[in-house]
Amino acid sequence: MKKLLFLLLALSFLHVTPLPRPQFGIVIHGGAGTILKKNMTEEREAKYREKLGEVLKKGHQMLADGEKALDVVEQCIWLLEDSPLFNAGRGAVFTHEGRNELDASIMDGTTQMAGAVAGVTTVKHPISAARAVMEQSPHVMLAREGAEEFAELNGLEMVDPAYFATDRRKKSLKRAIDRESKQGDEGSVFPSEEDDYKFGTVGVAVLDQYGHLAAGTSTGGMTNKRWARIGDSPVIGAGTYANDATCAISCTGHGEYFIRYAVAHDIHARMAYKGESLDKAAKAVVHQTLQDAGGTGGVIGIDRKGNVTMQFNTAGMYRGYYRDGDVAPVVGIYGE
Ligand code: ASP
Repeated sequence: MKKLLFLLLALSFLHVTPLPRPQFGIVIHGGAGTILKKNMTEEREAKYREKLGEVLKKGHQMLADGEKALDVVEQCIWLLEDSPLFNAGRGAVFTHEGRNELDASIMDGTTQMAGAVAGVTTVKHPISAARAVMEQSPHVMLAREGAEEFAELNGLEMVDPAYFATDRRKKSLKRAIDRESKQGDEGSVFPSEEDDYKFGTVGVAVLDQYGHLAAGTSTGGMTNKRWARIGDSPVIGAGTYANDATCAISCTGHGEYFIRYAVAHDIHARMAYKGESLDKAAKAVVHQTLQDAGGTGGVIGIDRKGNVTMQFNTAGMYRGYYRDGDVAPVVGIYGE
C-alpha cells in the first residue's frame, strides 16, 4: 500500500513538473570531410574551436536577448563568412579558373519563405543576399551577375573578388589541378581523400524563444569546380530546410548527392510523415540513404523542442551547439 502511494505521488510530481526543455538553441557546422587529428596542428585546432565557440556564444546571447531565428542565422553566418578558416565568404575555395564563386541559402520555418544566391563573386556576405532574395523579391534563387546586381540594388556590401582569396585555398586548387593532370582525369572536380582538403561549408540552424525555426548555409562549393557548377548549399530542400512543425537543417558534403536525395527535406519529411524524432531521421538519412548511395558529408539540425542532432559519415565535421540551459557551448571536430 505504502509503495503504491509513493508511486502515485511520484507520478503526480512528474506530471506537474515536466522536465524543463530548452526555450531556444543554436547548432552550427563548419564543414565535414577528411578532418583527421594527425593532419592538424594544435594551434590550428585551437583556432577552429575558438571560432566555433565564439559563434555559438554570439548566437546564444542573441537568442537570450529575444532576437529572432532568422537574424541569429544571418549574423552567425556573417562571423563564419568573415573567417578565412571556412569555405564561405573570405577563405572560399577556388574554381578551376581561379575564382571564388559563392552560394548561400536561408529558410524561414514559420512562413516557408526561402531565398538563395548562386555563383556570386562580389557580395561580401552571400547569406544576406539570400535573405534579400527571400524578403525583397518574389523569387527564391538568383544567380551570378543578376544576383550581384540585385544585392547591390538592395544596399548590400560589395567587394572586389580578391577579398575572398586566401593562399591556403590557392594551394589546394594547385594540388587538385596537379593531381588531375597526373591522373589524366580531365573533368573530375573532386579532390582525393589524400589531400588535406576539407569541404568547409558553414551552416546554422536555430530555434528562437518564440518557437520559430530557421536555417542557413553558405559556401564556396568544391575546389576545382568548373562550368558554373552549383552544389546543394543554395538548393532549398537539399542543403537547407526549415519548418516550424518539424526542424531546421543545414547540410555539408558532396553536394550532388545532397541534391539527388533531397537530404534536408528528407529529414523533415521523415519527421512529418513517419513521426520520427529529429535524431532518428537525421541518422537514417546520413548513415543509410547517403551512405548507401556513396555520398559523404554531414547535417546539423534542431527541432521545435530544442533537440539537436549533428550527424556525419566523414572522418570529422566542425560542429557545435548551445541551448538555453546548457552550461557552455559544446564544440566537436573529429568523430567522437
Ligand atoms: N555541399 C557543398 C557543395 O557541394 C560543399 C560542402 O559542403 O563542403 O557545394
